[in-house]
Amino acid sequence: MFKLLGEKFYQWRKMLLIPATVAGLVIGANLTGILEPLELLTFDQFFRWRSQEDFPFLKPTEKVDPRIVIVTIDESDIITLKQWPLSDAQLAQLINIIKEEEPKVIGLNIFRDFPVAPGTEDLNRVFRNTPNLIGIEKVIGDTIKPPAILSELEQVGFVDLVLDNDGKIRRDLLSITSEEFGQKLSFSLTLALTYLKEEDIIPRLSESSRNEDEIIVGKAHLFPLKKNSGNYINIDNGGYQILLNYRGGKKSFQTISILDVLSQQYPDNLFRDRLVLIGGTAASIQPSLFTPYDRSYPTSGTIIQANAISQVLSAALDDRPLLKVWSEPLEWLWILTWTSTGMFATYILFNKNSFQYNTVIKWSVFIASNSVLGLLLIASNYLLFLQGWWVPTISPLIAIVGSSMIVIVDQWKYLATFDSLTQIPNRFYFDKVLEQTCLLNQLFRRETSLILCDIDHFKQYNDTYGHPAGDRCLQNVAQAIRIAIRSSDFVARYGGEEFAIILPKTDSKEAKKVAQRILRKVKFLKIDHRRSLTSNYVTLSCGVSSLRLEDQSFLKTLIQQADIALYKAKEQGRNRVISYDSLLVTES
Ligand code: GH3
Ligand code: MG
Ligand code: MG
Repeated sequence: MFKLLGEKFYQWRKMLLIPATVAGLVIGANLTGILEPLELLTFDQFFRWRSQEDFPFLKPTEKVDPRIVIVTIDESDIITLKQWPLSDAQLAQLINIIKEEEPKVIGLNIFRDFPVAPGTEDLNRVFRNTPNLIGIEKVIGDTIKPPAILSELEQVGFVDLVLDNDGKIRRDLLSITSEEFGQKLSFSLTLALTYLKEEDIIPRLSESSRNEDEIIVGKAHLFPLKKNSGNYINIDNGGYQILLNYRGGKKSFQTISILDVLSQQYPDNLFRDRLVLIGGTAASIQPSLFTPYDRSYPTSGTIIQANAISQVLSAALDDRPLLKVWSEPLEWLWILTWTSTGMFATYILFNKNSFQYNTVIKWSVFIASNSVLGLLLIASNYLLFLQGWWVPTISPLIAIVGSSMIVIVDQWKYLATFDSLTQIPNRFYFDKVLEQTCLLNQLFRRETSLILCDIDHFKQYNDTYGHPAGDRCLQNVAQAIRIAIRSSDFVARYGGEEFAIILPKTDSKEAKKVAQRILRKVKFLKIDHRRSLTSNYVTLSCGVSSLRLEDQSFLKTLIQQADIALYKAKEQGRNRVISYDSLLVTES
């Protein structure tokens, strides 16, 4: 009884060990960074699904940002203006027109580190008289100075962006600190905070000591990215970086061409109380930048800045989610959960009852079940993404396939080594174990015993009760033997109604005791056998042989001697145990 429980426990241990090992391996592989590119591609796909207009059922409420207006300078504008950079006079005129409608903030995403005559005086005057105008500078690498006056008035933010390894922009650098200049804020954050200040929203640090880097802005909670945040592995997380929860491309913002503004052709109150961003969108004046959307449609820096501003504003005011990540242990648990699900699904589909399926059906079931689980995983991760969570997709996907593969291989191994009728090891497995036992016993120099059991008058049994009843009888006898033997012994179905038991490190006397116990257990089953010439119940005859196995050639002798002993047991009236040793004694 305990033995069967022990075996059940062994099975369960395997069920725990497989997912734990697979999950561990996948987590390890992930830490090397090899899965990061695939995770990033999946992430990009989620962004595209969200902005996809062809799939309304996938499209949530990613609306045009109502607070931002972009004054664009595109290729055709430059051709019409016949000038780039714009002169200081043109810029001054532009800002003055916008100012008239009293926007909350104006962001000038155009470098003006040196004057572009004519009109420099005019522009300087505008700079001095527009406290809600923010200019730009570049501070990392090849630096570009801000307009001197705006710098003096501290109305400047940096436009440096951080690229991922594949050159795409998925992060937003909010601030950097250096010994040289102290802390600087990004252009987008400066604009967003200036806008929010008008709404009486001031950023503050979290009071919780657990999240000392957390910054609270209105309804938004910002957490800086760590080196291994989300699916990133060992990124340069210098400064204060957060993930960029894109709203979309140019279509996700209200835009107006610079020519329309200069010629005063735009709807009334377009700029009133809004955040106005002035910037180039022409490829000839702005470096092409890559976002999750598409490699073939690079985005301009102005659109990326608009996205960065928009995510802070909408998170602070509307509670639109910022992208967040799970702690690493939670990510591991996520991977482990999917690994176990994959394993159990395959186990249930491929349990012993479905052994009769042919290989094609089996593989189809395997592919189908893994695909369903994979789709379920992707769907749940997409839903989580819509809520602002970036969680692992590729590693659990690999783990699902990995663990279900192991289950299948395990089942195959079982199929190849176990007898399907009696659920005990088959002859093939028996031969392997006997060889191994021989090797071990050579080391320990101890005797090995072998018991061969054969059901008495089994042909008669079949003839009397039918073949199916014979099968059931074989199953019951196999179970009885399993219970009768010790935990170190090994039983296999040796032939039709014959069983063989290997008893390592056991002498003839001990082996005989085990054989007697087997006989008793089978007798105890009280399986009716009215036409048996031996008893009213099913009985066994056993032959025992014991040898010190010096090398593999002794195995043949061990089996032959057990066979002879079994033959003697039959001859002497069946339902008994005969050891080869006792034959020697009587014969001599
Ligand atoms: P003995 O006491 O001398 O061993 O007589 P026996 O009838 O048991 O021996 P014999 O070798 O003549 O017959 C063995 C029978 O076992 C023949 C065969 O039909 C039956 N048998 C072998 N494998 C199976 C099986 O998987 N299922 C069933 N139902 N019967 C089997
Ligand atoms: Mg028999
Ligand atoms: Mg036989």
